[in-house]
Amino acid sequence: MEDEQLLRYSRQIMLPGVGVEGQQALLQAHAVIMGLGGLGSPLAAYLAAAGVGRLTLVDPDHVEVTNLQRQILHTDADIGRDKVASAAARIAAMNPACRVETRAEHLDADAMRQLFATADVVLDGTDNFAARGTISRAALEASTPLVSGAVIRFEGQLTTFDYRSPDAACYHCLYGEGGGDEDTCAANGVLASLPGVVGSLQATEALKLLMGLPTLSGRLLILDGLAMQFREIRLRRDPACPVCSPHHAPA
Ligand SMILES: [Zn+2]
Repeated sequence: MEDEQLLRYSRQIMLPGVGVEGQQALLQAHAVIMGLGGLGSPLAAYLAAAGVGRLTLVDPDHVEVTNLQRQILHTDADIGRDKVASAAARIAAMNPACRVETRAEHLDADAMRQLFATADVVLDGTDNFAARGTISRAALEASTPLVSGAVIRFEGQLTTFDYRSPDAACYHCLYGEGGGDEDTCAANGVLASLPGVVGSLQATEALKLLMGLPTLSGRLLILDGLAMQFREIRLRRDPACPVCSPHHAPA
């Protein structure tokens, strides 16, 4: 590791369980961030600042004025610009050594699976049920861990699906086919700082996962931002789940 890197990341290298080895793991890692909105903004910022070597940013949308209340990677001057381009510019200013690739497009399941197979971790910052289900399925098929977060109104949820493990529950085990109705921030609103909290927690999970430290795998963390209470529930793999059981069929 170069002297500049030892200096830049010194406050994290000094942590027990991290060290030069942990930092090296981050520098060599590839993370895919799906969605550069309210969750994706803090996610991308912290992963880049922490020294994750390579980020792929995926989002087909442009920056709109209604985004700016919470999507803090984008500025007023970015309105109309691709979100991935705006995010990449901010990241380049924060940490020029971070390699950033941008995909300003909607990826289908095949394209997702191919991309995820090249990644060490996938971070879901999308805002609808259908997209989350597709992302989870592609990550499962690529055996790539997925850190999933969601926010609505004053509420947030977070977990890590560690698809490297045969015992991991999947997104479908947790939510089934349900949802249907679009429970989005556009329809229901969200407090500005909530995606900042949950996105930062997702970044924390991803950094630990990349360095081999303990994660939330097997637990769902639920935040009630109004009462300001965290609680968690245990996640177990559903042996009858139509999405993940074929992957775990006994040989
Ligand atoms: Zn499942």
